[in-house]
Amino acid sequence: MSFNATLPSHQPNAADLYASAGTDFTKLNWFEQQWVAWYLFIDNPVIATGLVSFLLHEAVYFGRCIPWIIIDAIPYFRKWKLQPNKVPTPGEQWECTKLVLFSHFTIEAPTIFLFQPIAEAVGMSTWQVPFPTWQLMLPQLALFFFFEDMFHYFSHQLLHTPMLYKHIHKIHHKYSAPFGLAAEYAHPAEVMILGTGTIAGPLLYCYFMRDLHIITVYVWITLRLFQAIDAHSGYDFPWSLQHIVPFWSGAEHHDFHHMAFVNNFSTSFRWWDRVLGTDDKYRAYRSRVQAAKLAGQEKGLSAQELKELEDRMVREAEEEGVRAENEVVRKAEGKKVQ
Ligand SMILES: [Zn+2]
Ligand SMILES: [Zn+2]
Repeated sequence: MSFNATLPSHQPNAADLYASAGTDFTKLNWFEQQWVAWYLFIDNPVIATGLVSFLLHEAVYFGRCIPWIIIDAIPYFRKWKLQPNKVPTPGEQWECTKLVLFSHFTIEAPTIFLFQPIAEAVGMSTWQVPFPTWQLMLPQLALFFFFEDMFHYFSHQLLHTPMLYKHIHKIHHKYSAPFGLAAEYAHPAEVMILGTGTIAGPLLYCYFMRDLHIITVYVWITLRLFQAIDAHSGYDFPWSLQHIVPFWSGAEHHDFHHMAFVNNFSTSFRWWDRVLGTDDKYRAYRSRVQAAKLAGQEKGLSAQELKELEDRMVREAEEEGVRAENEVVRKAEGKKVQ
């Protein structure tokens, strides 16, 4: 199968690339052999990389969402739901899936196919083998996590300014109790702005260091998708990562942002919100719930009464969130805030 007929004549084919790089095929592991076979089969690096990138994104996104769809359908897990009164219906999940798929095919697919030429321009290895060692990958992944979290923190705050909120970010806030599929439910401009944070780290790193393989970028994208989907899952289990790594944000942190509309602008880590004081309302809410629960236990309230008490506090925070959102929209419309 060859796509060469439809492509510009200056595009070298894969066999020529491997020959000119002097690739030694005898020392490759199984994954590297499959990688070479894929590029030889498609015979055009732009299409080969584009297809893998798009299919990887789809497989990881929906693959990671499936366990959360199942968990939402099983009442047993409700005790760990952060907003137990708001479980997404299958209809809501399907509505969300349709918009996410539309955005994947119209916005993300063309962008992903543009990625290969940009990656090559900054010196990223794509078709090349062997793959990098995990010792080389680990610090690069840590750097991408740090960069994306910082980029997201500041651009997310910008998206909460009245005009940008009303015209762009409001779509993502449709769900005040998010679920996995809602991670990429957003305006196309938001997909581009926040996606920049994910991809600019690897591109900048590669531009300056000239030592990055696209496989490392794929590992990064996979971890980043897991992070985003899990943060929107709406569940905080005793075994969730934030209980093991205290500076990890997780669902417990981002769910509050959707529920109360304020605070917690970061993605992966808690430090920017902590250091810059944009987690004050979140922390006050957590200690309020904790104190109320303790007082309730001392008063001898039953498990049912304690649950009702917590539900009431969740509802109050949600109502405050609705008021805060209306205020931002009214500001954007230039109306006087009541
Ligand atoms: Zn937001
Ligand atoms: Zn969100």
